[in-house]
Amino acid sequence: MKLKMSDYEIIVEKNSIRGLSKHIKSFYTYDDLFIVTDENVDELYHDFIKSVLNEFHLHIVVIKAGEQSKTIATYLDVISQLMDKGIKRNHLILALGGGVVGDLTGFVAATLYRGLPYIQIPTTLLSQVDSSIGSKVGIDLPKGKNLVGAFYHPKLVIIDPVFLDTLSKREYNQGVAEMIKAGLIANKELFNFFKDTKRVTTKEILMAIEVKRTVVLKDPFDQKERMLLNFGHTFGHAIEKKFKYQTYKHGEAISYGMLIALEIGIKKGLTPKHLYESIRHTLEMNGLIKKPYFKIEDLKEDIKTDKKFTAEAFHFICLSDIGQGVVTQIKVGEL
Ligand code: NAD
Ligand code: ZN
Repeated sequence: MKLKMSDYEIIVEKNSIRGLSKHIKSFYTYDDLFIVTDENVDELYHDFIKSVLNEFHLHIVVIKAGEQSKTIATYLDVISQLMDKGIKRNHLILALGGGVVGDLTGFVAATLYRGLPYIQIPTTLLSQVDSSIGSKVGIDLPKGKNLVGAFYHPKLVIIDPVFLDTLSKREYNQGVAEMIKAGLIANKELFNFFKDTKRVTTKEILMAIEVKRTVVLKDPFDQKERMLLNFGHTFGHAIEKKFKYQTYKHGEAISYGMLIALEIGIKKGLTPKHLYESIRHTLEMNGLIKKPYFKIEDLKEDIKTDKKFTAEAFHFICLSDIGQGVVTQIKVGEL
């Protein structure tokens, strides 16, 4: 299945990675290819990627796995390794890995020599349904996450579910959390899929991508409609930060965040009360939340120090029904 973005395509298909060479050769004339990946993905897929791309001369840069690599230091190190390997303007870079590799490599591609072509090959469920879609690339600063970055289109995004077989259950579930979110704001059928636990297939991945794609096409630079994708994220981010990004993974934190958003929606009369239990149950069954759930009171101190909450009012995403996200305004006093 091919999905159209502004000027590139997203290919979503089992074993699509096997056609990678052909896709590259349709627009690229050099023999040299530059790959950035992390140590886990390299260990699992090094030989496979070499065989898929055996017509090219590969230069592979391997970074340490995890968010710790989305830094200026790794950014400079990757650039220096690519230059040592002889990268020139117009050479193609492949980002092979999860969201960390995708965001960092995309930012390298956006900035080195003022921009090189690159391809996203996301290998985690979260990166397949979320971070590889929408052209946001960037790195973290000591002051906070994703503070330096760009909007930079890839030449192609290839989404192949075969990579998911090697993901740990917990990493897999982080992607499920974003898929449940996508279902809740815009696709009831997608949400219902997660009411019992089965492995996702290409069909559900496509549905989740379609939610993000539709919103991104309306709002490429994240000024308005994209806000919907932040359902659960306002308080999710507060939870991640409260525990210094250690205890809860992103998908888990936004799952608690979605419950808080539901509570707020119910109190404001925007969300029907009966949604809470069914959504809570679904998140719990998918291994995303455990008791005790967070309440707003638990986050009071964290919220006080957040810029967003010290403004007089801020945008907040609620549900009016399953599959119906709505943007509303909240006054800080109301919280
Ligand atoms: P990640 O890249 O750290 O990957 C998670 C773990 O899975 C890593 O240890 C990685 O080595 C491993 N891994 C990757 N593919 C694997 C595979 N096929 N089999 C086994 N292990 C594999 O994290 P992530 O969850 O993919 O992405 C999180 C990042 O994405 C964050 O930095 C976040 O800010 C970013 N993000 C960006 C956007 C965006 O729009 N650009 C959106 C959402 C999230
Ligand atoms: Zn998220």
